[in-house]
Amino acid sequence: MQDEQLLRYSRQIFLPEVDVGGQQVLLNSRILVLGLGGLGSPVAMYLASSGVGTITLADFDDVDLSNLQRQIMHGTSDVGSPKTVSAAKRLREMNPEIELIELSEKLNEQSLRAQVKLANVVLDCTDNFTSRFLINSVCLEQKTPLVSGAAVGFSGQLAVFDFFKFSAPCYQCLYPAEGPDADHCSDTGVVGPLVGVIGSLQALEALKIILDIGQSFAAKLLLFDALDGRWHNVSIPADPDCPVCG
Ligand SMILES: [Zn+2]
Repeated sequence: MQDEQLLRYSRQIFLPEVDVGGQQVLLNSRILVLGLGGLGSPVAMYLASSGVGTITLADFDDVDLSNLQRQIMHGTSDVGSPKTVSAAKRLREMNPEIELIELSEKLNEQSLRAQVKLANVVLDCTDNFTSRFLINSVCLEQKTPLVSGAAVGFSGQLAVFDFFKFSAPCYQCLYPAEGPDADHCSDTGVVGPLVGVIGSLQALEALKIILDIGQSFAAKLLLFDALDGRWHNVSIPADPDCPVCG
């Protein structure tokens, strides 16, 4: 590792859980971030600044003025630009050392599978059940760890599925039916800092998985009620009738 890298990452290299070896693991790792909105913003920024060597940025949307209240990776001058372009610009400024791969087209199952195969961890930062179910089934099939976040209104949730170690439960065990597609972020309100809280937790869990440190959050669901200021931590039971992992 070069002197400049030792300095850039010094505050996490100081941690015995990371050290120079762990930093090298991060630099050699590859993460897939699906969705570059409210959750994807802190996810991509913290993983880039931490020195995850390769980050694939996937989003087919353009930046809209109504995004800026919570999607803090994008700025006013980015309105109208693809989110991938805006995100890459911001992340390059934060950390020019890492490799960024921009995917601006909508991923079908085949292209998603190809990207998941290349990734050490997948971060689901999308805002609809159709995408979430597809991402879940592909990650399970490829045995790739999945860190899933969601935030609507004042309620947030985090779920981690370490498919490399456990084949059940999966995301679909949480939502046996098709799921209420109502919680699409463009249709409902969400308070800005909440996506920052949940997205930051997603980035943190991804780092823990890559570094293989701490308590695994796998098969647990963390629920956060921002109005009450309460956190709940519940186990996700594997659903024997789950169409994906059952
Ligand atoms: Zn399942």
